[in-house]
Amino acid sequence: MSHPTFRLYNTLTHETEPVEPIEEEHLRFYSCGPTVYMYAHIGNFRSFLTADFIRRTAEALGWDVTNVSNITDVGHLTQDDLVDPGGEDKMQQALEREGERFANIYDLARHYTGAFLEDWRALNLREPEVRPRATEHVTDQLQAVIELVEKDHAYTTDQGVYFSVESFEDYGHLSGNTEAQQLEATDRETVEDPQKRDPRDFALWKHDPEHLMHWHSPWGWGYPGWHIECSVMGMRYLGDRFDLHTGGEDLIFPHHECEIAQNQALAGHPVVNYWVHTRFLQVEGEKMSKSAGNFYTVRDLIQPGPDDTHVPASIRQRGGVDPLALRYALMQGQYRKPFNFTLDTLETAARHVRRYRSVSEHVDEALAEDAEGPDPLGDRLDAIYERTLAAMCDDLNTPAATAAALEGVKAIEQTDRLSGAAARSAQDWLTRTNDLLGIVASEFESNEPHEASADSGLGTAAQNDAIEDLLADREAARADGEYARADAIRDTLDALGIEVMDRPDGTEWRRKVEL
Ligand code: AMP
Ligand code: ZN
Repeated sequence: MSHPTFRLYNTLTHETEPVEPIEEEHLRFYSCGPTVYMYAHIGNFRSFLTADFIRRTAEALGWDVTNVSNITDVGHLTQDDLVDPGGEDKMQQALEREGERFANIYDLARHYTGAFLEDWRALNLREPEVRPRATEHVTDQLQAVIELVEKDHAYTTDQGVYFSVESFEDYGHLSGNTEAQQLEATDRETVEDPQKRDPRDFALWKHDPEHLMHWHSPWGWGYPGWHIECSVMGMRYLGDRFDLHTGGEDLIFPHHECEIAQNQALAGHPVVNYWVHTRFLQVEGEKMSKSAGNFYTVRDLIQPGPDDTHVPASIRQRGGVDPLALRYALMQGQYRKPFNFTLDTLETAARHVRRYRSVSEHVDEALAEDAEGPDPLGDRLDAIYERTLAAMCDDLNTPAATAAALEGVKAIEQTDRLSGAAARSAQDWLTRTNDLLGIVASEFESNEPHEASADSGLGTAAQNDAIEDLLADREAARADGEYARADAIRDTLDALGIEVMDRPDGTEWRRKVEL
C-alpha cells in the first residue's frame, strides 16, 4: 500500500508543504513546552496535541521520530508578547502568590512539572524522546550567549546582554512584522535600558543577583532570557539542522522570531525547515480567561475539587470527565482553524469514547469465542483506515480523521455476529486507529482514568462512565414507558451506592457515601 503524502502548513512559507525529513524517514522536531508556574490549561494542551498528532502520523508512515519537548522553568516574564519583555518573572510571581505551599521556587517548579506530566499521560500523549529543562541547560545557554557576543550578534550593557536585531537581516521574516510593528511591540511601560542600541533588541541574559534563580556568568550573577533556551536545547539534542518546530500561535512573535535569529547567528545557516503553529483555543465562543469564568485547566475538567465552582456542576458531580473524552473533544477542530471548545463537544466526545471502549470489549469477546464464519469487515476497515491516515496527512485534519474512524466503529457495531476472522480484522483496525489517533489508551495502563484519592471525594472516570450509561438506559426505559425496567436500573444504581434524584429539569445523582 502506498502512503499518502504528509503535508503541513509552514508559517515560514505560508504554504501547505510536503514534509520531507532531512534524514530519510526520520522526523526530528522541537516543541515549545509549558512554563511550569501553574497547572496547564486546555489551550496549552491543544498546542501539545498538535505535536502528538505530528508524531503519530509520522510513525504511521513508518518513520522514526525524535521529538524534544522542553520545560520552561526559568526566565519567562509576564509581558511575553513584547520583544524584550519586562514585567515580573512568572515563576517568582507564582511563588509570591502561593508561597505557603512551597519550600522555594525549585519546589514550585517541581510540583507543576509533575502535575503537567500527569496531565500529559492522562491525555494519552506519547512521550518525547528528550524532555529538557531550561534550568538544567544554563551552562549551554551561557556558552551560546558568549558565542553570540564574540560573533558581534550580541552586546552587553550594565543591565544585561542583548541580541542585536540589526545584525540579523531576516528578522521579521517568520511573523511578517515590519520594523514599525516590531517597534510597537517593544516595552513602553517599564523603564527601558538606556544603553540598548535598538529598542527591538532582546535580552539573552539579565544581570540580577536578587533573582530567585540566578547563576554565575562572566558578567556577574543573573539569569537567561526566555528565547535562548529553546535555540540551545533544540540544537543540543537535534543538531544544527532539524526538520520542524511547533508551538502556539502566540509564539510566532516574538519567541520564534527571536529563536530563528539566535539559531542562524549561531549556526551560520537556517536550522529549522518547517514552523508549525496552533491557533488559540476559545471556550464557549470567547477567549479563555479567569474573569470570563471560562478558564479551565486540564485538572479542572478531569479531576475537579469541591471548590472549583467555575467548573459546571454536571462535571463536578461526576467527579470529572474522562481525560480521553477531553482529548477527543480537542480533536474536533483542526489545529490551524479557530476552535470553539464547548461543554456540548465534551459530552459528545465522551459518548464516542465510550463507544470505542465497548466495541473493543465486544471484539475481545469475539476473539475469545473465535467462531467460524466469514470476514465482512477486513476490506472495509482497511479502506476506512486509509481515509483516516489520509486526513491526518492532510495538515492534521483531526475532525475528518475522527469522523472516518467512527465509521469503523459503526461497521463493527452493525456486524451481526463477529466471527473469529472478523474479530481479528476489527482488532487489527482498532490497534492501528488507536496508534494513530490515541482515542483509547490501550498501550498505557497509566492512561486509565484517575484513581479516586482518599480525600478528594472523586470516583474514577471509568465508574462515572458506567453510571452515566446506566442513567441513559434508565432515561430511555422511562421514555418508552418501561417503568419496571427503569426501576430495576435504579436498584442497580442503588446497589452501587448511587442515589438518583428526578427533578423537574432533569435527573441528578450523587454518591450516597463519598469515596
Ligand atoms: P506557556 O505555558 O504559556 O509557555 O504555553 C505553553 C504552550 O501553550 C505554548 O505553545 C503556547 O503557545 C500554547 N498556548 C497558550 N494558550 C493557548 C490557547 N488558548 N490555545 C492554544 N495554545 C495555547
Ligand atoms: Zn520555546
